[in-house]
Amino acid sequence: MAKKKLTTASGIPYTENENSMTVGPQGPILLQDFILHEKMAHFNRERIPERVVHAKGTGAFGKFTVTHDITKYTKAKLLSKIGNECRVFVRFSTVGGEKGSADTERDPRGFAMKFYTEDGNWDLVGNNTPVFFIKDPKKFGDFIHTQKRDPRTNLKSPTMMWDFWSLNPESLHQVMILFSDRGTPYSYRHVNGYGSHTFSLINAKNERIWVKFHVKTLQGIKTFTGPEAEAMKAKDMDWAQRDLVEAIERKEFPKWVMKIQTMTNEQAKKFRWNPFDLTKIWPHTEFPLIDVGIMELNEIPSNYFRDVEQSAFEPAHVVDGIGYSYDKMLQGRLLSYPDTHRYRLGVNYEQIPVNRPINQVNNYERDGHMRVDSNGDDKPNYSPNSFDDIAADESYKAPAQKLDSDMAYWFDRNENDDDHFTQPGWLFRKVMTDDQRQNTIHNFVSSMSKIGTHKREEIINRQLGYFYKADIELALKVAEGLGIDFKP
Ligand code: NDP
Repeated sequence: MAKKKLTTASGIPYTENENSMTVGPQGPILLQDFILHEKMAHFNRERIPERVVHAKGTGAFGKFTVTHDITKYTKAKLLSKIGNECRVFVRFSTVGGEKGSADTERDPRGFAMKFYTEDGNWDLVGNNTPVFFIKDPKKFGDFIHTQKRDPRTNLKSPTMMWDFWSLNPESLHQVMILFSDRGTPYSYRHVNGYGSHTFSLINAKNERIWVKFHVKTLQGIKTFTGPEAEAMKAKDMDWAQRDLVEAIERKEFPKWVMKIQTMTNEQAKKFRWNPFDLTKIWPHTEFPLIDVGIMELNEIPSNYFRDVEQSAFEPAHVVDGIGYSYDKMLQGRLLSYPDTHRYRLGVNYEQIPVNRPINQVNNYERDGHMRVDSNGDDKPNYSPNSFDDIAADESYKAPAQKLDSDMAYWFDRNENDDDHFTQPGWLFRKVMTDDQRQNTIHNFVSSMSKIGTHKREEIINRQLGYFYKADIELALKVAEGLGIDFKP
């Protein structure tokens, strides 16, 4: 069979791929060898900015199948009938590390899902934890700086981390999860996903209900202990990626079951915490889990850069029948995700195949860097116009929401909003087994013992105070482990 011609990006056949054009056998190289320039220049530009968070990740395609009827809550077309299916793309990641960092670091895991529905893309951009470290997006950049590198030493800094956490008591719930063995999952197949934020569902009668999404692993939760995670880091930095790729190649397709919790507006008004606070969960006994469907991952992309590195998710992408809530962190993410994609991938990032919806896109956005579709051809590029038949569809309008409040910089919305301790206390006492409690204490001691000498006592005492409010035994055991005479 005849070989295909090697060509430049503009289709010009190469005559020579290994030797540059020179004057005589010893050189110098001629400037007119533009193929040499093209090869070098393209290579020099192969890296795009890595994500500022969630840089290290892996992804897979699969399908979502509706197994239960939740049409009384939502008119989303995807969820309108048992048996409905759609293609999905899921990207798992760690949060703080760079692209080359280890998969087994103690860190939350990103669990970003894209559902390609007939009404456009629905992105559920979750984590493997139901809560987060902060409840206001104004703190996000500060918080992430503490998880990255010290500006002087360029090293990770337990001092920065514990300084920030100990000055932000609302972080305690997520810190408790992070330092339990769930902070070092065995692999991505064995983590749950949580939409984490409160969203809303809107039904055919245009009634709105608040909702939380849970995506529970059917492989079972499996974790490393702290020392096991450290050992795996030395053995295989890419362990979680390898585990996912190899499982799918063996045709062991991992599956998750999607469930929801719902809360009416009346319940929300009476709930003892702010239902829109990302540092709180809704207890299962009061808001039981309701089954929705099954997600299966069954295809590793044939090109990592094309589909995984260039994938872009945004919490703003909800489809008809699903809506936002007042969750401040969600509101902040509605802004920051598309903003970061425009910086990282360019303004036309939604034309990249993995980000493209399956339905037709019609609008008046034109031009910009890397416009690679038909750019609207010769059709009008303004609206309204007298020539095309594109119109907004009012039937997609979400019902109005009444807001009656004062404009201010709020932190505590209601009486219990400064209660950052009850729920982490439940987790430690009611949910964890004895072994898990021991491991959590060990993990706290191991990390806090690395806090630097300057202000060490102050930071540790502040944090022990929060532990004490969540659980007395926890505070005393961590203090003992650190060799500190803690006086609450
Ligand atoms: P439940 O006993 O009904 O549920 C406990 C939940 O905790 C389960 O979802 C379980 O996940 C999860 N879990 C177990 N160990 C850990 C861990 N180390 N880190 C994080 N999650 C863990 O309890 P409640 O609903 O009354 O909540 C009690 C506490 O459980 C909460 O304060 C919160 O800390 C934690 N939690 C609650 C969730 C919720 O949405 N209600 C969700 C996740 C955690 P699984 O079943 O998959 O093993």
